[in-house]
Order: sequence, then C-alpha cells, then structure tokens
Amino acid sequence: MRPNSTQGAPPCSFVAVRRAPMTEPKFQIPSIDRLLQRADTLALIHRHGREPVVAALRAATARYRSEALAGLAASSVEAVSESLTVAAAKHLRSLTKPSLIPVFNLTGTVLHTNLGRAPLPEAALKAIAAVATQATNLEYSLEAGKRGDRDDHVASWLQRLTGAEAATVVNNNAAAVMLVLNTLARRRGVIVSRGELVEIGGSFRIPDVMAAAGSLMREVGTTNRVHLRDYEGAIDARTGLIMKIHTSNYRIEGFTAAVAESELAALARKSQIPFVVDLGSGTLLDFERFGLPREPTVQEAIRDGADLVMFSGDKLLGGPQAGIIAGRADLIKKLKKNPMTRALRVDKLTLASLGAVLPLYADPARAVKVIPALRLLTRPIAEIEATAREVLAPLQTALRSNVEIDLVACKSQIGSGALPVEQLPSCGVRLRPLTARVSSRAVETLAARFRGLPMPVIGRIHQGALVFDLRCLEDPREFIAQLGVLPP
Ligand SMILES: *Cc1c(COP(=O)(O)O)cnc(C)c1O
Repeated sequence: MRPNSTQGAPPCSFVAVRRAPMTEPKFQIPSIDRLLQRADTLALIHRHGREPVVAALRAATARYRSEALAGLAASSVEAVSESLTVAAAKHLRSLTKPSLIPVFNLTGTVLHTNLGRAPLPEAALKAIAAVATQATNLEYSLEAGKRGDRDDHVASWLQRLTGAEAATVVNNNAAAVMLVLNTLARRRGVIVSRGELVEIGGSFRIPDVMAAAGSLMREVGTTNRVHLRDYEGAIDARTGLIMKIHTSNYRIEGFTAAVAESELAALARKSQIPFVVDLGSGTLLDFERFGLPREPTVQEAIRDGADLVMFSGDKLLGGPQAGIIAGRADLIKKLKKNPMTRALRVDKLTLASLGAVLPLYADPARAVKVIPALRLLTRPIAEIEATAREVLAPLQTALRSNVEIDLVACKSQIGSGALPVEQLPSCGVRLRPLTARVSSRAVETLAARFRGLPMPVIGRIHQGALVFDLRCLEDPREFIAQLGVLPP
C-alpha cells in the first residue's frame, strides 16, 4: 500500500500501526497547488484548461511516487516539479493530438476514398471559414424575412450547370440513391440491367440498397447484354422506376449490348414511369477536352432525358462529400417531402463549400486549374517528372545506402470507382530495400517508417518495392523537410 494513500484505508486501529513506517521515504513530492503556481503550468492551463492539467499533474505525481518508492528517482523539489510538469505536458499533448490529420497521398490514386477523396479548392475553404463561426441564413430567406430552404444556396448553380429544372443535395451519393428509391419506388419494382448491379465497395451494393430502400429489384437482360425489349417486357402495374447505373468501377468488354439513355428515357416517358440515372462520379466537364478519358457528364444524362440524375460531390466534381440529385422539379419536390430527407440533409459547411465550388465551373479552363482534383488529374507529366527528380536526392540522403532508389514510369488512377480501366501516365520514385533475401517484411517496414512521419506519407507497394507516385505532390518542400525525422 502506498504510504500516503487513504483509498481503501483499513480500520483506524490498523491505520495507526501502518502510519509509522519503518523507513520514511527519502524524497519530496511538491503539492499540486505548488505545481499549479509554476509559470510553465500556467501556460499549460492557458492551453488546455485547468481541470485536465490538474488531472495530468495528479497522474504524473502518482507515477513519480511509485517510481520514487522503488528507488528510481530522488532529486531536489525543483527538479521533481519540473519533471512532473514536463510529464503532464507530454500527456496532455498526446491526449489532444487530432486523430484526423493530413497525409501525403502518393498512392497514385487521385480520388482515394480511404484518404478522403477530393482535396478542396481555396474558394471552398474561404466559404467554410466565412460561415463556420457565425449565424447564417442557412434556412432563412433574406428577401421574405422568413423560413427559407437550404437547397437555395446551391440549386440555381446546379440548374445552370446541369440543365436540370431543379436540384437537391444530401449527405452523399449513396444517400441520394436511397432517397430516390425510397420516395419513388417503395414497395414498387425498379427495372435495372443485370450488368449494372454494382458493388461500389464497403456496403454499397445495388441489390442491398434496393432492399434497404424498400424497393423490389427487377433485373433484366444478362450480364453482358441487355436490350430495349427486355426493359419493355418487364414493365407492369407495379413498376416504380427504370434505373440506369453508371458501372464506374469495372467494364464489361467483348460481346456486349446496352440500351442508350435516350431510348430508356423514351420508353419510360411512354409508360409514365420515371427514369433515373445513378452516375456515381458525375462530372460537369467534357473530360476529352482536357486530355482525359471520356466520362459521361451530368448535362448529357439530363439532355438524354433522365428524370433524375444522382452523383457524388467529392468524386470528379472535386468538392465536399455530398450527394447531388438534379432533374424534374415535381420529382425533386416529392423527394424533399420524404421524412428521410431530414436524416440525410447536409450541414452549412457542406453547402458553403459546394456553393463555392460550383461557380468555378462557369469557366471550364479555369476550373481544371483551381479545382485541385481536376488540376491533379490533368497535371502535365513533365511537371510530375520534375517533382520526382527533386525528391530523389533527399530520399537517398535520408535512407543512406540501405535502400535502392530510382525513378520509374507508373500509372495513376482516377479512383473512387471512376474510369477503372484507363490509367494516367505518371512518374514515381521506387524504393527497394537492400536485404540479403527478397523479403516482403523489409518493404512493409519501410512503408511503416514513412507512415510514421509527422505528415504521414502513403505510397503503394508493388513487386517488392515501395512506390511513390508524384502526381499528387505539387509542392515537395514539406515532404523533403520532414525526411530528416524519418523514424528508424
Ligand atoms: C461512388 C458511387 C456511389 C456512392 O457514392 P458516395 O458519394 O460514395 O456515397 C453510388 N453509385 C455509384 C455508381 C458510384 O460510383
């Protein structure tokens, strides 16, 4: 039992015996009150607040006491006070260290879902900062002086850019799909091609989403081929929707047939059933104009007659996480009446951010420069090579002779399920650990060392080497600066 502890104290008579230990401890522990008067402790209080500091000092004191009892430490009160404060400061730092931090995405996958997808443009940050700490007109009409609609902050830009009559925004595209199915086809059939029953990753699988939304999936065609007559034959009195899903993360090649969106739209109109398109990574730009592989645009889907189009905000659009639904005004109105909308709605920060990103599309040539996701996707190979050369020597210095380092040509991916087959020519640095035997352990260890940096570096392991694709490293200064503290 610790000499000064009163916890679980035995009855008084017994305490009296224990109160006179054989040997008095030969160390002094400053009181918490005394520690709280130190200048460095006051600085800690200023930063963390009094309660956490007191708790940290108590914990440090208790630890010190047990160490001192074990004969591990004994020193002047001043030295003890200082070491207790230092220990408390260290503990408080680790407690308050943010868990979500920036990393270098050198995986070669530009829109990496695990790494947070699209980096936001400067304009979005400014817009977020402007509204984050103030009251806003989020759902308040300044003209009418009464309740407004949060979609109003982005709807007109969405209409202008997509050509749709109306638009609404929810938490992400999965939510958008869920809301559309649940509103327009609850307990009703949804006709969809068998070749489009995608799994996006995680738990988003079209058949499961349909079931969760309460829709009855009616698959038509075969894996590789579907015809207009298949859709036609499936329509009955219980049909709620015809749905097309952009198979963004795989491609069926060879003997294939699909039905054009314009034909599906015409069939749906004839049968008075809405036709909806889940575009996934919908873009507002003609990608071919910027030397990228073709990707269907939202405008095209609307023009081809889709009644509603759903797409993500943080994929090719390059904005915040959001699910955007654009299309017929009467259907958007119905969606907004579904009680689910309340559970799926976006907050003011998302709307501020999206509201700043959309106007950037007014000038496509400028958009590909100021929207980081698009800038990275269209980054000239010569620039990527120059960055690779710039980081080569600092990496060699940091790793000395234990790792063989060279430049390699590699392929970047767009990511987030977009355009899986096409890959973008890029340049990388390849790091191969020099070990007696080829071992996957050595390269895993090397990768872990880079993950241990203050701003972790995430690469890709390929054929026994760690590869850093430099496409997403636009300014290598910070990357180089921290190599000096690469963990052993
Ligand atoms: C990515 C994707 C989704 C899910 O979008 P989130 O914004 O990640 O929720 C749904 N459908 C398709 C076709 C997709 O590509």
